[in-house]
Amino acid sequence: MGSHCLAVATAIAGPESLPSGNLRTRSGVRLGVRACGILAIALCLACSEPGAVTDAMVPQTSAAPTTTPTPPAGVHHHGLVGDLDGLDASHRRAFLIGPHFDPMPPVQAGDWLEHHPEPGQTVAQFVASDHNAVTPDRRTIYLQPIGPLPHDRGPTIDELTEHAGRYFGLPTAILPAKRVADLDIARRRHDGVVQLHAGDVLDELETQVPADAYCVIALTLQDLYPGDDYNYVFGLARLEARVGVFSFARYHPDFFEPGATIARSEIMRRAFKVMTHEIGHMFGLEHCTFFRCNMNGSNNLSELDDEPAHLCPVCLRKLHLAVGFDPRARYDALVESYSRAGMFEETEWALQRSAWLDAAP
Ligand SMILES: [Zn+2]
Ligand SMILES: [Zn+2]
Repeated sequence: MGSHCLAVATAIAGPESLPSGNLRTRSGVRLGVRACGILAIALCLACSEPGAVTDAMVPQTSAAPTTTPTPPAGVHHHGLVGDLDGLDASHRRAFLIGPHFDPMPPVQAGDWLEHHPEPGQTVAQFVASDHNAVTPDRRTIYLQPIGPLPHDRGPTIDELTEHAGRYFGLPTAILPAKRVADLDIARRRHDGVVQLHAGDVLDELETQVPADAYCVIALTLQDLYPGDDYNYVFGLARLEARVGVFSFARYHPDFFEPGATIARSEIMRRAFKVMTHEIGHMFGLEHCTFFRCNMNGSNNLSELDDEPAHLCPVCLRKLHLAVGFDPRARYDALVESYSRAGMFEETEWALQRSAWLDAAP
């Protein structure tokens, strides 16, 4: 596998180009950016991470296209999820389209797909792609806190770790928290905010990947930047090296408006969605264009908020092939973390899915 690099989210060309409402983007993998063996992703502008290729964010001035990206004409369900023979009835039912999944809406101006017209990744394409396999020796998802993750700012590291375990069906572990002051990495003050150099964080993480790690994901409330030419980045990952770092700093409204408040359940929802989307990329899942899905790309906060926390049948099947789990038991486990997080819409959805799978003939 090449030196896959996932540059998550983004940066802006210069302060003067910052359109105030649309900077809060997150990253995504882009199919077709494999030219130099690099899978990169990002929101907005190219990242200065050596070897990374990222996408430029286009100012949101163009008219909204009216195309609906999916499901693609002529592609039937089997073409998306592949052969389900050999699965028992409940498992097979989990990967049918079923009643709980919405089609993609028409692309609006400023949406991810307006700027990144990705074709989507079928299960067959996923199987044929290069990505780190989950093996008996490498199956633990490690979360690495950098600085505090206090309860009143969003999910704690315990809540994030528990949710990651339930979502991906793999063991999880928490690495000892790193103090920001102890990091021997570049940092800067930008617009009054102290930012950490995301590439330097990854350099440090790469030297500390546990032998049984599937991946190590650092999570922080510190703002990040990818290089001097950029204003910020939401996160950065190196897929082959199994490391990523993601910041939740810009998902709380008081980052932009001191004193602004938001329901904790909303912050939990954003953090859970972003974390699982980005870890999903580590497993080789590319952006979904077939259904409303947690693996949809998002180019701004409202697009992120409109996307569901769940995986569509196509992406669920990819994860199932990568990890192996009982789909109904997974939904039951997610009911727990969603209800604890106050995410009642997601709780209800997972309950309905579990019941629907239970009703399999
Ligand atoms: Zn993504
Ligand atoms: Zn999907």
